Amino acid sequence: MIDRTIFSEEHKQFRDSFRTFLAREVAPFHEAWEEQGFVDRKVWSRAGEAGFLCTSMPTEYGGAGADRLYSAIMFEEIAHGGVSGLGFGLHSDIVAPYILQYGTEEQRQKYLPGMARGEIVSAIAMSEPAAGSDLQGIQTTAVRDGDSYVVNGSKTFVTNGWHADLVITVAKTNPAAGAKGTSLLLLERDMPGFEKGKRLKKVGMKAQDTSELFMNDVRVPAKNLLGDENKGFVYLMSELPWERLQIAIVAVASAQVAIDWTVQYVRERKVFGTTVASFQNTRFKLAELQTEVQIARVFVDKCLELLLEKKLDTATASMAKYWCSDLQGKVIDECVQLHGGYGYMWEYPIARAFADARVQRIYGGTNEIMKELITRSMGLGAK
Ligand SMILES: Cc1cc2nc3c(=O)[nH]c(=O)nc-3n(C[C@H](O)[C@H](O)[C@H](O)COP(=O)(O)OP(=O)(O)OC[C@H]3O[C@@H](n4cnc5c(N)ncnc54)[C@H](O)[C@@H]3O)c2cc1C
Repeated sequence: MIDRTIFSEEHKQFRDSFRTFLAREVAPFHEAWEEQGFVDRKVWSRAGEAGFLCTSMPTEYGGAGADRLYSAIMFEEIAHGGVSGLGFGLHSDIVAPYILQYGTEEQRQKYLPGMARGEIVSAIAMSEPAAGSDLQGIQTTAVRDGDSYVVNGSKTFVTNGWHADLVITVAKTNPAAGAKGTSLLLLERDMPGFEKGKRLKKVGMKAQDTSELFMNDVRVPAKNLLGDENKGFVYLMSELPWERLQIAIVAVASAQVAIDWTVQYVRERKVFGTTVASFQNTRFKLAELQTEVQIARVFVDKCLELLLEKKLDTATASMAKYWCSDLQGKVIDECVQLHGGYGYMWEYPIARAFADARVQRIYGGTNEIMKELITRSMGLGAK
């Protein structure tokens, strides 16, 4: 396998310590969390105490000022451990950067240190029952009234939504202006009229609390506007390459660990008096999968380098998201096949990985939307 050159010795030590944290604080409980449909709240504070939340935030806001390779390591290790219930990535690497980049000093001080300690769990609510890919179609409104906005609407599929204390909520502040009339508002758990709906029962990622949220005449102080009014879409676009690369990072790490589990399984499983590994079909299949995952890893590592240099563009990140998540689906499906019936049993990590993988092609912008974005960079955008 090609040596990865992007990580320093410090990164490697950090990987070891995060892997140890997951083995001690997460893995033993994850199955119970899948049963209950959410992770125990205390894992958030444990992660905060250990310095595993908001690591890329500056130290004055409770982070470690770490580069995004540390975040990448955490995405990889969560995938490697098969502990998909942790919504740390969305909290630390999607929500926190918006607050850092577009928040006022007061907002940064109010939220970021608590998020780094795991006392404040955060989410971002864009999708609505009638608007996912087409975010311009959102119907949630925020109407200015004195020194508040009055927010009405409903959101769905919100990762961390049930635990969330703080939700970046996308709302129309000027419905006639489409994308140019959209703003981001910081809604807090105890604001009157802000209600959590049910935790959604999902095909996979069963320990992750994905929820509906309802806003009924929620009075949000105007100082909770994130950035400028009507610039919400511009802000959402600015972070997309990194958000899409996160999905690709998870995809490659999940595919790799699926191959590792399968290599181990086929060596041990006996059929017709020999091991499954002894069949040429098994070995060739695994050789093909490993080749493709190796190619994907080189591409994703290059994307990470570009990200650090602030050169990762939307089209390249979209390629990584779509191609790697498609590959993840293919690899895990083949690995289930090599496990036979056991591959379909929930107690086997490959079965869970199979269920967890499916959504990777859907969220963060569906893979069809990724292809639209790639065509735009080729001068082929739909009219
Ligand atoms: C587990 C999970 C977690 C999520 N977490 C969050 C979250 O934290 N916050 C949040 O806001 N959202 C979240 N989402 C929502 C997610 O981002 C959306 O589901 C996704 O963007 C797709 O939107 P949709 O479900 O409305 O599908 P639709 O937009 O209705 O798409 C249906 C189909 O039409 C296709 N399609 C749509 N437009 C086009 C087009 N122009 N060309 C070709 N095909 C097209 C799609 O690719 C798809 O195949 C989450 C979803 C899931 C399942």
